[in-house]
Amino acid sequence: MDRHESRGLRPNDMVVLREMPAGLLDDLPAEDQRAIAEIIGKPVRLNNYDGDGRAELEFTDRDGIIHFVFVKPDILSPAYTIQAIKDWRENEYKAGRPSELADFYRAHGIDICVDCGGQGTRVIGVRWRDDEGMERSEVGPVATLVQIHTLDDRKCWLTDVRKWDYLYAPCLSCQGSGKLSASSKSDHVVE
Ligand SMILES: [Zn+2]
Repeated sequence: MDRHESRGLRPNDMVVLREMPAGLLDDLPAEDQRAIAEIIGKPVRLNNYDGDGRAELEFTDRDGIIHFVFVKPDILSPAYTIQAIKDWRENEYKAGRPSELADFYRAHGIDICVDCGGQGTRVIGVRWRDDEGMERSEVGPVATLVQIHTLDDRKCWLTDVRKWDYLYAPCLSCQGSGKLSASSKSDHVVE
């Protein structure tokens, strides 16, 4: 994997820790050390990046204890490539089995809502400041709103550094939990 790919890992992606991070274990209790050793090579969730650019991994150990661990992103790989997911879905489809993305997630123990990517919210529109300084907002497709209200134009920027902000609503599929297991699609509704 090249560095470009490594930097492309985004929050909520499933990733694999390729090796034991140097120095990580020195200050940790034995249970934590064991738990971390057990996840090497297995898919875990990349929660987010901290201020130093370290990746926060979240995983549940065999005792059901949730762990958070910070590592340098250069020892992480994507857990599943787009191609791997595509191949799996094609095979399942040909075999007459459920083959949606949500089915792939379920089969691989990934508890992330497909519709919101685990965020628990969905973007429903934008808010901005018009050329008279009035704050405005509108619900609709973001690309269209940016175009019709010329939000790329500096005079419409929300602040000096921010063009616009998004309007969010709780994700209806997972009731805002971000979890596939809470998703209304868990009983495999055909769309
Ligand atoms: Zn959701």
